Amino acid sequence: MLLQDFPGQESIKAYFKKVVSEDRLPHAILMVGQPGFGPLGLALGLSTLLQCKEPIDFEACGTCSSCSKSLQYIHPDIHFAFPVVKMDKIKREDTISNHFLPEWRSFLQANSFGNLNDWLNHIGASDKVSNINVAECNSIIKNLGLKTYEGKYKVQIIWHAESLRKEGNRLLKLIEEPSPDTIIIMICSNRTAILNTIRSRCQIISIPPIDDEKIGMHLQNHFTLEESESEEIKYLASGNMRKAMQLAAQNQMNYSEDMLAWFRFAYKADPEDLTKWTDYLVGKSKQDLKNFMGYTLHFLREYLLGLNLRETNRLRLSQDEKNVILKMQKIINRQKTALLERLFSKNIGYIDRNLSIKILIMNMSFEINEILRSEVNKFV
Ligand SMILES: [Zn+2]
Repeated sequence: MLLQDFPGQESIKAYFKKVVSEDRLPHAILMVGQPGFGPLGLALGLSTLLQCKEPIDFEACGTCSSCSKSLQYIHPDIHFAFPVVKMDKIKREDTISNHFLPEWRSFLQANSFGNLNDWLNHIGASDKVSNINVAECNSIIKNLGLKTYEGKYKVQIIWHAESLRKEGNRLLKLIEEPSPDTIIIMICSNRTAILNTIRSRCQIISIPPIDDEKIGMHLQNHFTLEESESEEIKYLASGNMRKAMQLAAQNQMNYSEDMLAWFRFAYKADPEDLTKWTDYLVGKSKQDLKNFMGYTLHFLREYLLGLNLRETNRLRLSQDEKNVILKMQKIINRQKTALLERLFSKNIGYIDRNLSIKILIMNMSFEINEILRSEVNKFV
């Protein structure tokens, strides 16, 4: 990953460029942010820049021998540590990240926005307990004690640093008294899960959500989507590229139409239509259904905001969705919207429990009917 190719996070990239150009990059950095906000990609971009032999205006050139290795994640002076699980013949306490490097590289090539579950799925270990163990810490200490092979720096990236737990104490000395050519980049999404002793010795960089516009552009470049579809997804993702890519991949982009259809069928309450509609929703996977109901919640919240503001300009919705709002506002007022929101928010939590999805959908349809046809005053 080249820093300049990373979608968005302009202020973080500018900060890295500045401190690298002024030669005052902190030796220990703790990047805190959701995986979907891109801390790992930013760390990879920074490492590539640090190792580049011929940077142009403090950006990695992307073509020198160092960049070529960094981009394939095989640079000998960029080390990775991440949570792993027991491997076939190796004892768990001896298993370290180096045993998983080929899988790690293909994980990074696929995308750098994945979370721990994505990683464990990638290595077929979703049911196993992962961590960063003592042997890993010893390996980190050893790696950083060596001379650099060819780079200017020894860079150690520790991904999902939450997994270090108390073993992190073993790295204290390293973080406290680093050799001048050592850069340690730790990445986590939950800073309180990092030992205080470590946290206080790191420069903490908070990674904010990615701009909607950058998410939209990234989706357009990587998926075949209508513009209205990528617009819909970018707002729904709330700055989280992992979520955006997941939604785009599943390409479930008829959500707003589906939502309207549900309201229409529920309102009319024609038994035949409702049965067909229920079967249609039951045919979806649980994840799909959760995404759809999550979308409906997002829409209802924006809709309510629109009713309060009496305008739609500031809503995180696409033009098509704003047209949907115009259709809805004669029928669904603020109180009804609040009741619908409550209904969806309650039921989205039931999908994963072992309830019958069919009964869940049917009950929701009856409740939607009641809300839409109600004199709302009696509900509140
Ligand atoms: Zn280069």
